[in-house]
Amino acid sequence: MAKIKEVRCIRTRPNGTWVIVKIITDQPGLYGIGSASEHNHAATVATALEESLGPLLIGREASRIEDIWQCLYTSGYWRGGSILNAALGGIDMALWDIKGKEAGMPVYELLGGACRAAVPCYAHAGGRDHEALADDVQYYIDEGWPVIRCQLGGYGGGFVENALKPRNAWSAAPAFDDEAYLEAIPAMFEYLRHKLGFAPKLTHDVHEHLKPQIAVALAKRLEPYRLFFLEDALAPEQIGWYRLMRQQCTTPQAMGELFVNVNEYLPLISERLIDYVRVRVAKGGGITPCRKIAALCEFYGVQTAWQEGGDNDPVNQAAAMHLDMTSYSFGIQEENGFGAEELEAFPGHATMEGGYMYPNDQPGLGIDIDEEKAKNLLVGDQVRAFYAAEDRRADSSVVRP
Ligand SMILES: [Mg+2]
Repeated sequence: MAKIKEVRCIRTRPNGTWVIVKIITDQPGLYGIGSASEHNHAATVATALEESLGPLLIGREASRIEDIWQCLYTSGYWRGGSILNAALGGIDMALWDIKGKEAGMPVYELLGGACRAAVPCYAHAGGRDHEALADDVQYYIDEGWPVIRCQLGGYGGGFVENALKPRNAWSAAPAFDDEAYLEAIPAMFEYLRHKLGFAPKLTHDVHEHLKPQIAVALAKRLEPYRLFFLEDALAPEQIGWYRLMRQQCTTPQAMGELFVNVNEYLPLISERLIDYVRVRVAKGGGITPCRKIAALCEFYGVQTAWQEGGDNDPVNQAAAMHLDMTSYSFGIQEENGFGAEELEAFPGHATMEGGYMYPNDQPGLGIDIDEEKAKNLLVGDQVRAFYAAEDRRADSSVVRP
């Protein structure tokens, strides 16, 4: 059996925001890779991997994925959180990659085998006004995407140019206005449904911006437009409001891209308060916990919609795809749209055709990293941290991202 000999971090993309873990074994040529990307604090995750979790792995049997996951999860006594989960998620994916290579089969075969031919994904459409958005939605319909996310303006809508601000306002930027959002988004869907009909499956992402009372009202007002789902209508701190939302309307709810702890998603799934769970596989702690989430979802009739987003990397995408291929509770997959140069650095990456993602038949995750090409993508200061935008309401108070 292979023993773990070395744990390395490879950082790529500008500022090294993609953190790829490489676990090397004592068997000739046998290694695995995983995604520990953390866009905002990449250097912190890399330090956790290199100085804290990585050394704990040396000499362990690479095959004992469950045991390693359990040991690392509680190794710092305090557990969870986005930084440690990302590091743990990267290690976990790399171990599944190794196990697949040892077995000579793709990870989705190890997990029970394919239960669908390919993975349907959703596209991201946007526009400054209704017409531009409808054109963009039509573009993705023509490309063959089964589900399309619809956003108005940069981050979805609700920003007011001429808001009534105090004389000492802290920001000159357009202010976020909950009531304006509540007017804008139903009007947007009214336009889209009038123009495109009800055949296209459409979603909208609130990005947790709204006050919870307004989020419930929005879900109710969107009911006539029959969304595929409404995403992140509430902030993780306000998930108790999902019960009230359920009582008010049948708009399907997707939630969870910020979740990093079982106690965040467990009650929402087991009480059937959401319809799609959106944990990012790396941030959930990897394939090991996420396959348990998928199994839990199946029993409760909830579906998975693993998160990607612009900061995601192709290795995390591959891990999500393997779960999607084998999970009966799969609902839909978000997809990044990587650049050609980015994909060249990851031979064996998932392939997109129309709105479907296809795995290859290579053992393990089926994806590798070309370290030379990855190095070419790496420019800028690797210590630099990034922060979520500080959107503000008219009175200058900050909006939760
Ligand atoms: Mg989102």
